[in-house]
Amino acid sequence: MKVTFIGAGPGDPKLITIKGKEAIEQAGVVVYAGSLVNKDILQYATAAPEDIHDSAGMDLEDKEKVFLDAKERDLNLARIHTGDPSIYGAINEQMVILDKLGIDYEVIPGVSSFQAAAATLCQELTLPELCQTITLTRAAGRTPVPEKEALAEIIKTTPTLILFLSVSMLNTITPTLITEYGADAPVAVVYRASWPDEKIVKGTLSDIAEKTKAAGITRTALIIVGKVLDKVAAKSLLYDKGFSHGYRKSK
Ligand code: SAH
Repeated sequence: MKVTFIGAGPGDPKLITIKGKEAIEQAGVVVYAGSLVNKDILQYATAAPEDIHDSAGMDLEDKEKVFLDAKERDLNLARIHTGDPSIYGAINEQMVILDKLGIDYEVIPGVSSFQAAAATLCQELTLPELCQTITLTRAAGRTPVPEKEALAEIIKTTPTLILFLSVSMLNTITPTLITEYGADAPVAVVYRASWPDEKIVKGTLSDIAEKTKAAGITRTALIIVGKVLDKVAAKSLLYDKGFSHGYRKSK
């Protein structure tokens, strides 16, 4: 018996890996994060309906019971998380319990929502000379962020910034972002990337909070900030005579 943590992908049930889908098919018990995982993923499950659990209403103790019960019945358990489990997935606390219970586990990665958002935008997040670093982070809210990771600090190199779990705080974040990126910096907010009701809001740091509010987006969205979003700047740099690459030497 083992527990397999599976990244379900960002929403579209076709964005799960083949390996993840197979692990769901082969599991006798399924626990999924109902608040974000698309329930269509459950179409791959063959477990009995009473062995398919939504973790939304479960605390750690409830999860421990389900793990233990699966162990006693020698049934593999598929633990389905949204996006990729390594990013804000809260898998570590479950692994601590599994270690305590002497249950083996493995992780199958998934397509993270930031990758789905980039795909939706048809956007490369790293562009030669313009930006070669992506920072995945969140603003401090109810969940604290270590002080030295305060937004004002980590944006000093103006990376391509991807903010998870922060769209409800957009209003209070933008003044900080403006200090490094400037008021005209391009921003995209992507709501429910890869879901049928996906929405994109584009703007600058000076108007994005207002536009996002007008679109009624308060959750399940990513904020992407950075020069790479400015397609004109990106193109002009790539075709600039001074820019050389393997096939075209600079003159
Ligand atoms: N492990 C997940 C992230 C979980 S934290 C991943 O890799 O994507 C939950 C946050 O992820 C949400 O608040 C939102 O910021 C983001 N998110 C999850 N799914 C999303 C989606 N389909 N579109 C946009 N943002 C999403």
